[in-house]
Amino acid sequence: MQKLRIAIQKSGRLHDDSIKLLKECGIDMNNGVNKLKTEASNFPLELFFLRDDDIPQYVEDGVADIGIVGENVVLEKNRPVDAIEKLGFGKCRLSMAVPKTMEYNTVSDMQNMRIATSYPVILGQFLDKNNIKAEIHEISGSVEIAPGIGLADAICDLVSSGSTLFMNGLKEVETILKSEAVLIANKKLTAEQTQILDKLLFRIKAVKKAKNNKYVLLNAPNDNLAKIISLLPGMKSPTVLPLAEEGWSSVHSVLNENDFWDIIESLKAAGAQGILVVPIEKMVI
Ligand code: ATP
Ligand code: ZN
Repeated sequence: MQKLRIAIQKSGRLHDDSIKLLKECGIDMNNGVNKLKTEASNFPLELFFLRDDDIPQYVEDGVADIGIVGENVVLEKNRPVDAIEKLGFGKCRLSMAVPKTMEYNTVSDMQNMRIATSYPVILGQFLDKNNIKAEIHEISGSVEIAPGIGLADAICDLVSSGSTLFMNGLKEVETILKSEAVLIANKKLTAEQTQILDKLLFRIKAVKKAKNNKYVLLNAPNDNLAKIISLLPGMKSPTVLPLAEEGWSSVHSVLNENDFWDIIESLKAAGAQGILVVPIEKMVI
């Protein structure tokens, strides 16, 4: 049987979460350190460990069929590959930062500046869109030190918490792109490869969905049962079971993380008691 070849980051910020996602999809592999590739033992998948910057090209060339990489890298490399599914990890933003002491009000303040970045393509597009003429200095690492050593007036770099910028006396002034890890695929997969990819995608979606949802169990007074049920969306409708104590029911349902706290508050206000919230491992709907 044909195998699907997936490229993931060899080491760095996306490596552990990429492996974790595949494991949560029930895929077993022996992850030897310093290996270039390995195979899954219970799924037709072969893993290649590569530098993230090389992944779009390898997927375009068909050396790997699919890959996991940051959207920032996909856009910067600008290779013709399909971005198939956002994966919910590796979240960061590509931002513009200037020295703390510099006055900055609008994008037009970037006019004629020297900007250091590892993302010349994305930055160039942003500047063009805003009709800004600036000098882009491409550097491959430690971009945040560029203003301090007089190499640039501003930088355009990846940020997650902002602490690196702060430590280097910089302030974030524009967000150019929001990014997270994404699954990319070669545009010309065979029917058999597409079939394996669909199987993997089905599992990835179930894992992602489960992460965004919680299983909720609560006790409800029967007098207010209708009201409590109306507050719960559930997968179809909530499960209701009688409690041993007369006049009470146990209600089970699934809640989305986004409106979780609002619903819990309303449930309490409607008389729900003993509310238990449990993580869900997989969710197939
Ligand atoms: P490689 O050796 O594979 O080239 P790298 O040094 O280019 O690694 P990492 O720093 O490991 O890359 O980052 C990989 C990806 O993680 C980034 O492209 C980005 O999508 C994501 N990421 C998430 N948060 C951050 C952050 N705070 N800084 C940089 N990248 C981040
Ligand atoms: Zn890299």
